[in-house]
Amino acid sequence: MPPAAQPDLPLSPHGEIDSMLSRKFGKEVANYFSGSPLNRVAFLRTDHTFLTQALHHPSTTFILFKDLNPLLKDPATLATVPYSTVKPLVGENPYLTPEAEQIAAYNSSTYIPTLIFLGLDPAPPSPLTYKSHSGAPVFALDVTPRAHLTDASNNLISSLTSQSLSFSTGRHNLTLPPSAAALYASARHLLDWNTRNPFCAQCGSPTLSTNAGWKRTCPPSDTAFQTPRPSCVSRGAISNICFPRTDPTVIMAVISASGDKILLGRQNRWPAHWYSTLAGFLEPAESVEEAVRREVWEESGVRVGRVVVHSTQPWPYPANLMIGAVGQALPDGEAVDLGNDPELEDARWFELAEVREALRVGTSGLGEEAGPGYKEGGLRLPPRTAIAHQLLDAVVNGGFLAGVVKI
Ligand SMILES: [Zn+2]
Repeated sequence: MPPAAQPDLPLSPHGEIDSMLSRKFGKEVANYFSGSPLNRVAFLRTDHTFLTQALHHPSTTFILFKDLNPLLKDPATLATVPYSTVKPLVGENPYLTPEAEQIAAYNSSTYIPTLIFLGLDPAPPSPLTYKSHSGAPVFALDVTPRAHLTDASNNLISSLTSQSLSFSTGRHNLTLPPSAAALYASARHLLDWNTRNPFCAQCGSPTLSTNAGWKRTCPPSDTAFQTPRPSCVSRGAISNICFPRTDPTVIMAVISASGDKILLGRQNRWPAHWYSTLAGFLEPAESVEEAVRREVWEESGVRVGRVVVHSTQPWPYPANLMIGAVGQALPDGEAVDLGNDPELEDARWFELAEVREALRVGTSGLGEEAGPGYKEGGLRLPPRTAIAHQLLDAVVNGGFLAGVVKI
């Protein structure tokens, strides 16, 4: 497959604003999948009067997913549809009663498609105004055929595909423009989390999607059964076990003690000559800096000293936050040893010039051919939509270490 065009990255709204922090640490870096244009108005997710108005407003749009794949006009355009299109699945108004009444009337035998209120888009004309807030409401809806709505979903899907719309077949959808990519990322993250958590993690009972798709509640009763539900700690003081999870991951560009090389690794399933920065999950009771040092040592044997966070990236596969860091190896800790953790097939030090050239001619998505100008046998690296690319670019092209005097 030839390489797809790599979209622009979101612009940090604070990038050009002078401040003491930007003078000391440089511009804020915004990574792909961040930079949502929406005001999430999280405090309105339990307001059924607002949600009712948001559902039916003329400016409202829905983005649709089937098996977590978004509906697209083309690989660079997310499709949106109005309420009238999704009414057969959503119904007249799922927000008709206050949330407390919905929880009290819970019936686990009734399938309800997952509907997420993502926020208010401030850009379109003639927006919804509610109290002091204004914007065009944006929802995400899971239209995957299920239960008694299978026929309605299939009819909807047939109607959409006959209009030259299609559900993505790509793995990561890295071709959307940055604002659409951010909407897609938040919707996919939340739909996946709702789908994976039909039961309460504490008591095992079926749960109800609440807070406009941002929480799952373990109701105290279930009209589908005569027997009472078990008691559950999530109904008391500890209710946060049912909020969406985000799993922190560290990903790091490690520079040598002398500052002229970068440590990269590769997995055996990757294309030939493809390398990336090392990465791994943050473990419980571990700081970001400690996780960077541990992961690098486990996977490569290299011992890292000082660690600095560079930027972060939401990564909705399924629920990661990539915490990008730059670390520097200790002078006597640069020996590579792959004997501990079998995750990497190889890890080695690359000259900055070789990484700089690979960023220029050797980046593409996994599964794609390298771009024009790439010479077979040269180093290949992830596309600029990946935070790994941004970390390497920050180091080898000077931005992150500008003004640093080498020891
Ligand atoms: Zn429970």
